[in-house]
Amino acid sequence: MLSFADARQLVARQAQSHAGVRPTIALPVSDALGHILAQEIRTDREYPPFNRSTRDGYAVRASEAQPGVSLRCLGEIKAGDTVSDPLHPGTCIQIMTGAAVPPGADAVVMIEFTHRNGDAVTFDRATESGQNVIPQGCEARSGDIALKPGLRLGYAELAVAAQVGATSLLCHKKPRVAILSTGDEVVPITETPGPFHIRNSNTVSLAAQVRLAGGEPVPLVNALDRVDDLSAKIEQGLREDILVLSGGVSMGKYDLVESVLKGMGAEFFFDAVAIRPGKPTVFGRCRNTLVFGLPGNPVSTMVTFQLFSVPAVDILSGSLPRPLPLLQAALAEPLQEKPGLTHFLPARLDWDSLVPRVHALRWQGSGDISALTHANCFLVVPADRQSIAAGDRVSVLPRFDVL
Ligand code: AMP
Ligand code: MG
Repeated sequence: MLSFADARQLVARQAQSHAGVRPTIALPVSDALGHILAQEIRTDREYPPFNRSTRDGYAVRASEAQPGVSLRCLGEIKAGDTVSDPLHPGTCIQIMTGAAVPPGADAVVMIEFTHRNGDAVTFDRATESGQNVIPQGCEARSGDIALKPGLRLGYAELAVAAQVGATSLLCHKKPRVAILSTGDEVVPITETPGPFHIRNSNTVSLAAQVRLAGGEPVPLVNALDRVDDLSAKIEQGLREDILVLSGGVSMGKYDLVESVLKGMGAEFFFDAVAIRPGKPTVFGRCRNTLVFGLPGNPVSTMVTFQLFSVPAVDILSGSLPRPLPLLQAALAEPLQEKPGLTHFLPARLDWDSLVPRVHALRWQGSGDISALTHANCFLVVPADRQSIAAGDRVSVLPRFDVL
């Protein structure tokens, strides 16, 4: 059986060969968070555009502003002021953070290290040329590449675009991800379930995970465990870039997803991964759509989407697949698990001590989403480690949606 790492690589490889040229869309910079940039953004001028003071203080000639020396202060410059007159020898000028340092001045002395008496300013410390001044053009020259295509747009990237005047950004369209829950027992969340029915929480959690991953969720109506209904709903899902199904991939008599997909022409790249929860995960391609059949137990659905579907969303978003963001932590209490499968256990990471510590949480197995509301990560127990002692180093997969 495939390890989860090998299964992820397989997804990435198939998604790469499937991706083709991704469509683009022009977006206002303030709407582009989480999109992948599809163009090059260049700087429109030098950064900083003038010699900028980084402190409130006095602009000086460094050679003159030495301990015990007094210079006459000839006014002030605040941020935004036009500066053209040079600083006269033997003088200084009061200057604010973000203001332009006048020609002739080569340093700014912090106000804390000066004394003022009328317009005479005395300096406490030696001054070095360049101190507290960011020279014009030292962050970027005009025409430099500020942002490259393929970059994921976070808040800093959006700020750079805004800074250089790129108010509209050509981005890759988010991949559309159809979400299809299956099961005769599953009812819409707007209905009161019968005594043996359950509400469709998977469509809600999957839509949230799709959004977090950078995709556009397209929720479909739940499919019954019947070939005709399943085929019709899968048909709808095949209009999108990715189809994610929940449920119906185990060994039960009514687990029909794989056989129905096969009947519709799907080819499969794997139908099991050596993990718990999530072992019966199916990944394939049907016509022009990448298809994931995720086990229906809610925690299995969550874990397997994170592990296997996110790389496909990444690639169809126009970016490289992000690495799995595993962190290292010390195990808080000893742990015993069956060997053979890599386990992903709901767990709580805390940063009270020097080394982060992780506590496995009590849970009732992969149907227990309540346990997950206390978890901020999954503790990863490798397939070949049956027992782990307290204090041993382990990997954890953070839940960045709540951290
Ligand atoms: P399955 O993978 O179809 O065998 O489903 C496994 C378990 O997950 C069953 O207990 C289902 O009731 C539950 N389940 C399946 N689909 C959903 C869903 N959409 N929302 C919440 N629980 C589900
Ligand atoms: Mg089912």
